[in-house]
Amino acid sequence: MPLDILTIGEALVEVMRTGVDQPLDQPGPFSGPYPSGAPFIFAVQAARLGIKTAAIGSVGADAFGDCLLQQLAADGVSRDGVHQHPDLPTGVAFVSYQADGSRSFVFSLGAGGHLATDMLEPALFDGLRCFHIMGSTLSMSAEVLKVCRGALGMALDAGALISFDPNLRPELLPPNEARLAFSDFMSAADILLPTKAELLALTGADTVQDAVADLLAQKPERLIVVTRGAEGCTVYSAEGHVDVPGYAVEEIDPTGAGDCFDAGILSELLTGKSPAEAARLANACGALAVGAKGPMSGAKSRAEVERFMAAQR
Ligand code: ATP
Ligand code: MG
Repeated sequence: MPLDILTIGEALVEVMRTGVDQPLDQPGPFSGPYPSGAPFIFAVQAARLGIKTAAIGSVGADAFGDCLLQQLAADGVSRDGVHQHPDLPTGVAFVSYQADGSRSFVFSLGAGGHLATDMLEPALFDGLRCFHIMGSTLSMSAEVLKVCRGALGMALDAGALISFDPNLRPELLPPNEARLAFSDFMSAADILLPTKAELLALTGADTVQDAVADLLAQKPERLIVVTRGAEGCTVYSAEGHVDVPGYAVEEIDPTGAGDCFDAGILSELLTGKSPAEAARLANACGALAVGAKGPMSGAKSRAEVERFMAAQR
């Protein structure tokens, strides 16, 4: 059976400090491993919304890899794209949270940073409806960028919708280099999911209006959804724009908000909802993600998301 959504990128587990303001350069308690990696958080959220999803990535042949694989199995995410690297350990992100809401990371990418062209199994692309990719993945290495370009070509050949979340990470790739690295993905995208800062940095425009006008002139049928944190998002299309307000929640852990938002909007667009309806559910997925601690614990099932939306009305 063809997939609804395929994504690709870094498979990780997260190991986090148990309390706030516990620096990573001192001994102290951790909890975890928790299955993580932005593309995998995205895939799990899409599957919990009932969408047939797979993610291409690598784990090690070790217990942390088993931890992520077991989570994918529990959520019904296809594991056909996940490879077990014989030599590299599973990638780990060590995270500490500060009282001001900021986070610090130590990444040990291991197998998580390993993507290879022979992992682009043609069967994954056969009849594929939507291919989603993130700029943070493209920023990992020149080799990963090359493999992702190959995946983009296969998705385009399959006639899939292309979704791109720039997830600009200047510590991995400076914006001027990201602009070049991301350009094929920006041009191909039917659905673009930037923040305002990412949109301006990647287009070089001075205003959102100019950036949007330019992007729509290149591809009039596309959607540009600018996410605005707690404020929600704005959906731009050739027909105009609509502001879709966010949901008020207490922000507990921002990890995964963008990933769950992306999964929410794509799952709804694929089931024929209007862009504004899709954005409402996506805002709910993003809000639920920031309201829970742990990378995947805020990714809720369709029933839970709908209950949350009904309760907020
Ligand atoms: P990420 O760091 O995960 O990539 P981002 O900066 O790309 O996130 P945001 O605009 O911060 O994206 O968040 C994505 C979506 O998540 C928002 O459009 C909104 O729907 C929801 N969201 C984020 N933060 C909050 C919040 N504090 N309260 C409610 N909803 C939120
Ligand atoms: Mg983002």
